[in-house]
Amino acid sequence: MDDAKIDGMLASYDKNNLTVCTVCSHSSLQIFDGARKEGFKTLGISIGEKKKFYDAFPHGKPDEFFIVDDYKDILKQTDELKEKNVIVIPHGSFVEYLGAKNFLKLDLPTFGNRDVLLWESDRNKERKWLEGAGLVMPKEIKDPKKIDKPVIVKYHGAKGGKGFFVAKTYDEFVRRVKKNKSFIIQEFVMGTRYYLHYFYSPIQDNAYKLSKGSLQLLSMDRRDETTIDEVQRLGSIAELEELGIHPTFVVTGNIPIVMRESLLPKVFKMGEAVVEKSLDMFDGMVGSFCLETVVTEDLEFKVFEISARIVAGTNPYISGSPYSDLIEPGLSTGQRIAQEIKFANKKNLLSKILS
Ligand code: AMP
Repeated sequence: MDDAKIDGMLASYDKNNLTVCTVCSHSSLQIFDGARKEGFKTLGISIGEKKKFYDAFPHGKPDEFFIVDDYKDILKQTDELKEKNVIVIPHGSFVEYLGAKNFLKLDLPTFGNRDVLLWESDRNKERKWLEGAGLVMPKEIKDPKKIDKPVIVKYHGAKGGKGFFVAKTYDEFVRRVKKNKSFIIQEFVMGTRYYLHYFYSPIQDNAYKLSKGSLQLLSMDRRDETTIDEVQRLGSIAELEELGIHPTFVVTGNIPIVMRESLLPKVFKMGEAVVEKSLDMFDGMVGSFCLETVVTEDLEFKVFEISARIVAGTNPYISGSPYSDLIEPGLSTGQRIAQEIKFANKKNLLSKILS
């Protein structure tokens, strides 16, 4: 990461008065709560209007709201935000709605290495990274005519899994696919889904040691997806599909989960491998990241995606998880992020964790 650039951005900052800032959405209640626990001021960027429901959650409500009409206005109002000494915490909605390209341009000190976006927002590069790290991904089917087992069709840029569908034959694919949209076809991996929430610190050596810094596992979840996860209340999927009712994969919530302990060594090996590869490729990702996996009946992990920031799946653990409690009782990912900023600030290492 570019130390001089960060030092430049922080030049006018009162470092004894940093403010943790994010957009009011996604995991912001947790981020504000965690920052407050570590003694930071908090600022919530709210799009359009101040969100009333924050009043109902005093610990999750930011100290101050900053209202903008549109995500793009954030790019224009960075001077005002800098006066408030803000450190931006990216989350899925923030990056998705501002757009990866704009997010890279945002002239504010931001937690994590933003270069990760160049690898993560392009499916080919993401595959190069994960497979290069030795992780197993679902096979990609380039020629739809070769569909000979269940596949999942994913549209580019589809928010929250919207529009994804499962096909078991070429005919079914042709019937369902929207030809005007670009998509990829992936083998549908049978198994159980685990979304693994890691935290990588390049500047602390107090956890699972890597070539530089150390790795923690803070929690894991399973996503609740409508309608696939409950469609069986109405009948079998095959039965419903005959009636033209197709399951969808739209994320609506998250369910806490733990994994059999014997799988944890593999979980750490995978986390280690993606971090080490990221260090080789783009100076390393920093902080929270999530591997989205399916565990097969042979107890092998297949990784279908990486999210290189706090994921909403950490929200069930605002007061700790079965894993983070073994690090520090009650620790959330939001609080862990705030701890990293606090530690880096104290040691004069902010340029190692911000971009
Ligand atoms: P994604 O947008 O890639 O995170 O996928 C949305 C959802 O589709 C996931 O949360 C899973 O439930 C499901 N999914 C994605 N890829 C696969 C796969 N290759 N095999 C089985 N299920 C998948």
